[in-house]
Amino acid sequence: MTFKPTEYLPYDFANRRHIGPSPEEMEEMLKVVGAESLDALIDDTLPPAIRQKEPLDFGKAKSERELLHHMRVTASKNKVLTSLIGQGYHGTVTPPAIQRNILENPAWYTAYTPYQPEISQGRLEALLNFQTMVCDLTGLEIANASLLDEATACAEAMTMAQRVSKSKVKAFFVDENCHPQNISVMKTRAAPLGIEVIVGSPDDLDASAVFGAIFQYPGTYGQLRDFTDEISKLHEHKGIGIISADPLSLTLLKEPGAMGADIAVGSTQRFGVPIGYGGPHAAYMATKSNYGRNMPGRIVGVSIDAHGNRAYRLSLQTREQHIRREKATSNVCTAQALLAVMAGFYAVFHGPKGLQAIAQRIHRKTARLAEGLSQAGFEVRPKAFFDTITVEVGPLQKAVMKSAVDEGINLRAVGETKIGITLDERTRPATLEAVWRAFGIEREDKDYTPHYSMPEKLIRKSEYLTHEIFHMNRSETEMMRYMRRLADRDLALDRAMIPLGSCTMKLNSAAEMMPVSWREFSLLHPYAPEDQALGYKEMIDDLSSKLCDITGYDAISMQPNSGAQGEYAGLLTIASYHRANGQGHRNVCLIPMSAHGTNPASAQMVGWKVVPIKSAENGDIDLEDFRAKTELHSENLAGCMITYPSTHGVFEETVTEVTKITHDHGGQVYIDGANMNAMVGLSRPGDLGGDVSHLNLHKTFCIPHGGGGPGMGPIGVKEHLVAHLPGDPNGGEGAVSAAAFGSPSLLPISWAYCLMMGGEGLTQATRVAILNANYIAKRLEGAYDIMFTGPKGRIAHECILDTRPFADSAHVTVDDIAKRLIDSGFHAPTMSWPVAGTLMVEPTESESKAELDRFCDAMLSIRAEIAEIEDGKIDGENNALKNAPHTVEDLVGDWDRPYTREQGCFPAGAFRVDKYWPPVNRVDNVYGDRNLVCTCPPMEEYLEAAE
Ligand SMILES: *Cc1c(COP(=O)(O)O)cnc(C)c1O
Repeated sequence: MTFKPTEYLPYDFANRRHIGPSPEEMEEMLKVVGAESLDALIDDTLPPAIRQKEPLDFGKAKSERELLHHMRVTASKNKVLTSLIGQGYHGTVTPPAIQRNILENPAWYTAYTPYQPEISQGRLEALLNFQTMVCDLTGLEIANASLLDEATACAEAMTMAQRVSKSKVKAFFVDENCHPQNISVMKTRAAPLGIEVIVGSPDDLDASAVFGAIFQYPGTYGQLRDFTDEISKLHEHKGIGIISADPLSLTLLKEPGAMGADIAVGSTQRFGVPIGYGGPHAAYMATKSNYGRNMPGRIVGVSIDAHGNRAYRLSLQTREQHIRREKATSNVCTAQALLAVMAGFYAVFHGPKGLQAIAQRIHRKTARLAEGLSQAGFEVRPKAFFDTITVEVGPLQKAVMKSAVDEGINLRAVGETKIGITLDERTRPATLEAVWRAFGIEREDKDYTPHYSMPEKLIRKSEYLTHEIFHMNRSETEMMRYMRRLADRDLALDRAMIPLGSCTMKLNSAAEMMPVSWREFSLLHPYAPEDQALGYKEMIDDLSSKLCDITGYDAISMQPNSGAQGEYAGLLTIASYHRANGQGHRNVCLIPMSAHGTNPASAQMVGWKVVPIKSAENGDIDLEDFRAKTELHSENLAGCMITYPSTHGVFEETVTEVTKITHDHGGQVYIDGANMNAMVGLSRPGDLGGDVSHLNLHKTFCIPHGGGGPGMGPIGVKEHLVAHLPGDPNGGEGAVSAAAFGSPSLLPISWAYCLMMGGEGLTQATRVAILNANYIAKRLEGAYDIMFTGPKGRIAHECILDTRPFADSAHVTVDDIAKRLIDSGFHAPTMSWPVAGTLMVEPTESESKAELDRFCDAMLSIRAEIAEIEDGKIDGENNALKNAPHTVEDLVGDWDRPYTREQGCFPAGAFRVDKYWPPVNRVDNVYGDRNLVCTCPPMEEYLEAAE
């Protein structure tokens, strides 16, 4: 290439980060699609009536370096003090091996929820370790693979108690020593369900008057109490006993199971997951085995594969909302998988002795701190504690708190005259000395004689973490290789496209991810003084304003921790609005049958009646049916929940009619924003008549899925609903999460995405997402039926392939196709939703033409295999589809199949050198559900399985 000194090459890398196809590839793709230009394709796809009027304008897009600089400047406005506020959030040390190999490793954070077990064995094992850890520490038999935060876990426990209790009363008792945010969220959850919450001292518990009770252990002000008597009284009256316990304290203290508790919940944040100004971290829930099937959330279980080898998979109830819909008991979908994996590894890393040593040290420091304060004349409560004490300071409260801040330490104001202090793994002798100074005490921390301030009868007697996995050689070499081995078993976005319809598995770019681990974002306590979080405030304000521009709403609440939580929060705002207008009786919610299962599940959580709406032949909402139902329920119509573009992957022209009809009958419109990746920059739910929507930041806005969480589901609302948004969990009302901004340490990701894309870049991403989907639809046309298309034959950002006919023609199910795709090195598309027996494909803008072609080649070759069965050339039962996926084991030993090993293991799309090998053959779900095992199986079985 010759170089002329006067000519400069344009440098246009910036927006290419997120856009898969190159400009040249796009030209070729447009030819295949049969569109003159990208704009022409978009004009064919989006009806003019729904197009947004003004283009998005966020000023000039930032380069990576500009972005990271901007982030640094913003981060520096957060002040990192040592927070000894406690209240469920604790300083912790993330072992660097876990930070680098898990938290910052795309093999872990870009994975999807392990619905396809064959490609998820690594994270399933990691989650099984987590569940085993939770069962051991709590002394209960079955645990789930995480919930969103401790406060929502308490609320889930409350509603679960009501389900399993045989008591008929409608009241629930809450220990006044529960963390305030837990109480706040439980009250929110209880109200629409007609549960009366009684907050009081366990001394005043009337067990006959409640269906269950929850106790905090240790209490929020540090109290330690054995709840055995209270729980046995509850049991006498058919009530359920719940303990919300700090898992680290359970390494020293009598466990909930030993007190007779039926359910234990809590947060595993202090197991190596930074506080992050409130989240994300994994809450846990454990229960007795007879209640296992009533537990919300996902549960990893042990099963076998087609060769009888051990294999993990999610147990059946996992898809409860999709199956039971409005009869579902919980709407938990996205949870906190990545954080549960981290917490599980923290336990593997430290082992039982290491955890105990950490807990002992924290306790001893607390004892020394208390001694120093008592000797100086302060009244310290309680006398027996684990890591938290409360000091009476009379009129000095403000002064001491201020001196503490001057020493770089945040303490907790308790009432008007007391101060709470909670120590943690990060506490050093210098921290104690600084706290003492804040109280006016000059004292050196040098007397290390161990003394305990825990009551003898509360000392733990039972063993825990006895499984070998918690006793492996913990050299970093061994740890690193264990984490690597598990990661290698899984197929995540770092290896291949994950074309999951409605889940929007797109790039989570490195530059977006980096600030998440910065201490200015990760070390802040959610209840720290606001003036220490000005960087967060700036980011949240700016991101909110951008999301308002994108959606056409007037305000955003960042509080919900998942899309489903956003739905719930959004419906609560509608309910509150109706009540404020004297329309509290409105309780009917129209929901299309094609809606995501969380929609009806969320509606039932706010106590509404769900009226399903049919789909018309073309996939649109059946307007006749919609009109008829709104008229029928006009008096009581609370609103409707629709998804746009619809879950059928089409921009319905009738959407504005649907919203108008709803408004005419006094209802409010909830637009599920999970499909925003098809809209950003082109169309706004707020302009279509939506009153409230959630956005899945872990779909459209680049927060990684983490193998099933974290996520964020902020809601946008119109002006009239602003006053009804969730309140502050720490003292306010109507909170839906433990922290005001949900999981704010994830927000740098979405903010960075917006800043680096700019308005035009975001819009281009939408256009290309639509192009990529239409390209796939075009290439697969003829081989597969595309179920729904718009009037001009176009689809939105996803398409549904009709695979149902093959059941008759070749005895091939949608499962067979999904498993065969694994042989080609792909994660299956979304299966059997919104139409049973079909596949929903969403490529996103991130995928290049080469990757789209590899996928199409794989799908076409599968179609050819089906044709061979249809033509009778291949056996209907013993074929590559039925035997998929194939493992390395299939390369050796006897081979009695009517196709070659080559055909079995290397179908179209499979790489030769970089071939992905699933570690197990097809997993038997039925076996696992019949023989429910949800903790690590004994080591002998590992050996057996390896033989
Ligand atoms: C993903 C999704 C949801 C639920 O979001 P979570 O974050 O998993 O709770 C709701 N509706 C639709 C259409 C979705 O695709």
